[in-house]
Amino acid sequence: MAPTKIEDGVVVSLVYKLTVDGDILDQSSADDPLQYLHGADNIIPGLEKALTGLAVGDNKQVVVEPLDAYGDYDPDDVEDVERSLFPPEVELEEGLVLAMRDESGNQFEATVIEVDDEYVALDFNHPLAGETLTFDVKVIDLRDPTVDELAHGHPHAPGMNVH
Ligand code: ZN
Repeated sequence: MAPTKIEDGVVVSLVYKLTVDGDILDQSSADDPLQYLHGADNIIPGLEKALTGLAVGDNKQVVVEPLDAYGDYDPDDVEDVERSLFPPEVELEEGLVLAMRDESGNQFEATVIEVDDEYVALDFNHPLAGETLTFDVKVIDLRDPTVDELAHGHPHAPGMNVH
């Protein structure tokens, strides 16, 4: 029997719209819903908490403060890096988002905020740090996870194999 409400260990399909200050930043449609495993840190904590207990067909507007989303903006999380450390073919300009990896292979992003002849100032804050996020969500499906999904801690797209 399919689960009837959102609780830990349920795979949730959501149609959602994310707005910040009235601008739509991200959305999913019913054809391509967001799927996540509830209780497994797949989505930001403030949204996950607010969805607990909802059923299929429920609509909800969830306002998430920075602390329960991507954190406060940290002005110390900006660093000057020598320009010579970047490959010469990279066109460094303000606003460019660079995908980087740390020593353990975790991916993260940095935004170029200033460039001069010698240094590049990189902002390591998440682009949504310090922002209050508004999600308009509709729950469109609830199901139990497969054994693999439960072991991995996230849902798999239909037909997705071991990865
Ligand atoms: Zn997996």
